[in-house]
Amino acid sequence: MSVEVYIPEEKIKSRIKELGEQITKDYNGEEVVIIAVLNGSFVFCSDLIRQIKCPVIVEFVGASSYGEGVESSGNVKITMDLKRDILGKHVLVVEDIVDTGLTLSNLLEVFKSRKPKSIKLASFLFKPARLKHPVPINYLGFEIEDKFVIGYGLDYGGKYRELPYVGVYKG
Ligand code: 5GP
Repeated sequence: MSVEVYIPEEKIKSRIKELGEQITKDYNGEEVVIIAVLNGSFVFCSDLIRQIKCPVIVEFVGASSYGEGVESSGNVKITMDLKRDILGKHVLVVEDIVDTGLTLSNLLEVFKSRKPKSIKLASFLFKPARLKHPVPINYLGFEIEDKFVIGYGLDYGGKYRELPYVGVYKG
């Protein structure tokens, strides 16, 4: 197999520093509950939280959507739920990539129904070509072309998450 580097490590580092600075400014010292959507976002999330200079609480959620063609929200299966209540909290959901937007649009509705004080979304990548369920991305790492990418948390068959860069899988 070969992997072509698509977003190099240094570019990722500097972009995440910028995102962290923006988030720090926006939350202005207030506590924020960071929700990492498993599995892919754990690498992005761990680098991002170390660039945020506000008190953070990190939570994890596992979710799978019921597939394409499901238009309504609420059709998401929470495979691992949060360990704490987000009622009245500032919430920042952290995702690896928004592709069709299905998972995130469903998940955001579930979290909104729990009445947080605010809810925002940070996504490392966004692939606009395939978007079907628009979601507001408040903090975006990179917009990418319609390519299947791996590395920096993103997998192919469970592998390649450990790559420090984003690559395009060449088979
Ligand atoms: P969505 O619900 O937005 O269609 O799906 C998002 C999920 O699909 C991501 O969390 C990720 O697991 C997977 N996904 C979408 N595009 C890619 C890609 O280019 N590479 C990898 N490795 N996973 C992707």
